[in-house]
Amino acid sequence: MRVPLFVANWKMNKAVAETAEFVTQLSELLVAAPGKLGQDFEVLICPPSTHLSTLAAAVGSRPIEFGSQNCGTAKSGAFTGEISPVVLKELGCGWTLVGHSERRHIYLEDDALVLSRTRAALAEGLKVVLCVGEKLEERRADKTMQVVEAQLSILKGMSASEIERIVVAYEPVWAIGTGENATPEQAEAVHASIRKWYSAQLGNSAAESLRILYGGSVKPENAAQLLREADVDGFLVGGASLDPVVFSNVIKNGLESRAPGV
Ligand code: PEP
Repeated sequence: MRVPLFVANWKMNKAVAETAEFVTQLSELLVAAPGKLGQDFEVLICPPSTHLSTLAAAVGSRPIEFGSQNCGTAKSGAFTGEISPVVLKELGCGWTLVGHSERRHIYLEDDALVLSRTRAALAEGLKVVLCVGEKLEERRADKTMQVVEAQLSILKGMSASEIERIVVAYEPVWAIGTGENATPEQAEAVHASIRKWYSAQLGNSAAESLRILYGGSVKPENAAQLLREADVDGFLVGGASLDPVVFSNVIKNGLESRAPGV
């Protein structure tokens, strides 16, 4: 049984001063969700790294997880602008995103760099959300799985204990921040293929336990349809994660679509 995971990616948004109120409101709103937070479903907040210590204090003992939007490739050293995985742990982070499409396409991070970041994060005990996804021209050229498999191939050769700390987020680049989400059928087709790839490359048990999140213009209006798909195990949410009411409705609508009898 894969526990649904909902990730808020704030990108470079929000003032530090907005952080605590967000956590308070989100926690209150999620009391009405079907299921228990931290047990039946998990929530991970990835704010700008400048907000992490404030977020850690706001979360306190609540069962809300938090993490970084990226992770440096070394413990420390001459890496201006990078974030040490050691310090992420020190701040209480449990997770980091790696390979987000904005990192890949605006900052030209390639698979080799994504691999180094992933290895550094795992070495410090962090869990990783590895983001993959194709551009529109790649989808049109029928190259979606070719692109996604190349991005996933950094996982080959990792140990079982590393693999079990990785979640994959399928985020078609053309759906991120555009208001145009993949249809549930499009998302499910890619998610099922990712699971198949996992099974062939990393084994059945890794494939069965892998959580595959969908990301790309998720909102309260499409959450139920998307999460109803068999291989969609949660969401990575950008714009709709900035408002606690909207984000909680993404979570509630998604979970309700899976509740018995719905
Ligand atoms: C994202 O930031 O990964 C994302 C999917 O953004 P949005 O939900 O705004 O499309």
